[in-house]
Amino acid sequence: MNTPANAAQSHDHSSADALQAAVTMADDYCRERGQKLTPIRRTVLELLLTSGRATKAYTLLDEMRAMHPNASPPTVYRALDFLLSAGLIHRIESINAFTVCHDLTHCQHGVLVVCQQCGRVTELQQQKQLRQSLLSQVEASGYKLAGDDIELKGICPACQAAEDPGAHKHDHDHAAH
Ligand SMILES: [Zn+2]
Ligand SMILES: [Zn+2]
Repeated sequence: MNTPANAAQSHDHSSADALQAAVTMADDYCRERGQKLTPIRRTVLELLLTSGRATKAYTLLDEMRAMHPNASPPTVYRALDFLLSAGLIHRIESINAFTVCHDLTHCQHGVLVVCQQCGRVTELQQQKQLRQSLLSQVEASGYKLAGDDIELKGICPACQAAEDPGAHKHDHDHAAH
């Protein structure tokens, strides 16, 4: 089936139920660690879950202000810091944005592949050995890593399709739809 490029937009973000389940999981996880998913932390997490891709801090702040007009940048940054330290979200250095962790509570972080155009992030889960091997080589080199994340830069399938001019070529007529 031929799909026009402008219909290729994905609508695969979580349903309300999945969102609620994820937030409940994060809530339980924080409680187990003796911490609290305060309303502001919860809202920032929900925004990231809803977005489904890497989101800049100022976009989160704007969305926050749409709901809570007096939300200040420090509150949002503190919430992000908390979510980062709890391992619930990742900071994506290459595009300076944040994304929710693929695995909200088990904290077995994978290797992140980040689309440099749209901010879509895929967390590769089967990379434990690769990660272990990288870490031991880093250790052998005498370095100490400044962060946990391993981030690869990429262009996602949707952005590749949008970029490829061949995909839009029409060298014959189509019957009216
Ligand atoms: Zn993760
Ligand atoms: Zn993309």
